[in-house]
Amino acid sequence: MAHRERLSVVQAYRFALDLTARQERAVLAHAGAARVAHNWALARVKAVMDQRAAERSYGIDEADLTPTQGWSLPALRRAWNQAKPVVAPWWRECSKEAFNTGLDPLARALKNWSDSRSGKRAGRPVGFPRFKSRRRCTPSVRFTTGAIRVEPDRKHVVLPRLGRLKLHESARKLARRLEAATARIVSATVRREGGRWFVAFCVEVDRAARTPEQPHVVVGVDLGVKHLAVLSTGEVEPNPRHLDAAARRLRRLARRVSRRVGPDRRTGRRASRRWERARGQLGRAHARVANLRRDGLHKLTTRLAREYGTILVEDLNVVGMLRNRRLARRIADAGFAELRRQLGYKTSWNGGRLVVADRWYPSSKTCSGCGAVKAKLALSERTYTCTTCGLTLDRDVNAARNLAALAAQASAAGSGPVAGRGADRKTRRAGPVAVKRQPGTATAGKTGTVPPQGGTSDQMLTKAS
Ligand SMILES: [Zn+2]
Repeated sequence: MAHRERLSVVQAYRFALDLTARQERAVLAHAGAARVAHNWALARVKAVMDQRAAERSYGIDEADLTPTQGWSLPALRRAWNQAKPVVAPWWRECSKEAFNTGLDPLARALKNWSDSRSGKRAGRPVGFPRFKSRRRCTPSVRFTTGAIRVEPDRKHVVLPRLGRLKLHESARKLARRLEAATARIVSATVRREGGRWFVAFCVEVDRAARTPEQPHVVVGVDLGVKHLAVLSTGEVEPNPRHLDAAARRLRRLARRVSRRVGPDRRTGRRASRRWERARGQLGRAHARVANLRRDGLHKLTTRLAREYGTILVEDLNVVGMLRNRRLARRIADAGFAELRRQLGYKTSWNGGRLVVADRWYPSSKTCSGCGAVKAKLALSERTYTCTTCGLTLDRDVNAARNLAALAAQASAAGSGPVAGRGADRKTRRAGPVAVKRQPGTATAGKTGTVPPQGGTSDQMLTKAS
């Protein structure tokens, strides 16, 4: 019965591209157009703001001030469309989607900034949007309308204006879904990452709802520094430490780059070809590390989400931890935030749920045997020894057991059976899923911990005493 249920989710399919030189030039032209539109609109918003501020300081009446420039995407688009014949006389050469690619994130950035300033948006303060530089920004262009399709041979995709692009890998996974009419392409983004071109399709997928293999089992996952994760079952997921393995190569390549003649903006010196080549190698080495890391994380989170009904993780203050420089590299390497994000959407796909424990729940300091809480536990103490009951076990296993016990408590105490699935949850056309909260769990004062697609993440404010 549960297997008949369908679940509508938005997910991405990403494929590497093999662009011809001509296609690459076309994509870069579109990405450049996006940047021009972004920078023009930002300059315009700034100019109007400054103008109004100046007029106000002269004591001009509020009604006589220069009219405001709207920040919404339609308003920015209207302004751009009026200005483009003058600002960008070449505008016909690019798809209008290119300009949208630049204006859409600007509209969102301006909104985030003003919400953050007025206190409507929690979390760290959001800065005012900045101009995009050709040197620093990643070239990308997004198409939301027009002919976007995967060719029947599954080795080519068709995008508006860019035409038929060859894929480096088969798009069969997406093609199968499209042929079975269980997927609809919402948008396609072409982007360069680590010296390589990719196309990412944002797809609305109708998935069959699943049930985890062990729907009633609660597993606590402790994200550690020594290991990537430790499960309350005692299973230890070793830290892949791909960055460690590649660190020597990265260091060598970075040194090579620094020895060669790079660009200098003050003197106008151009970079040497040898510098460009070395920098390409360094970029590819970094990209490889990122790929390995992503692969390891996906394998772990898929396995966990398929297996267990409830997964409980700690709400780590990743930003705060990254500020601790000694731990920083390790933590960045392990990709904690990414792990939790993946667990968020994968549990919802698999019919399980993710529970995020309060940041201040002392999972490491509590004894999983008797519940006694230690006042202090140094990071160097790898073994937990309880002074009350004498329990001795691995520090991370102890923490994971505490988390599992906490999740079991939450299930028993009013949040009901694990039913976080399908029927009561609708995915919006785009953007994050509205989170349905189980009664008995609160969200007061908590932000930034619900994964973007986390339909099943609950917050626990239970404090163990
Ligand atoms: Zn104890």
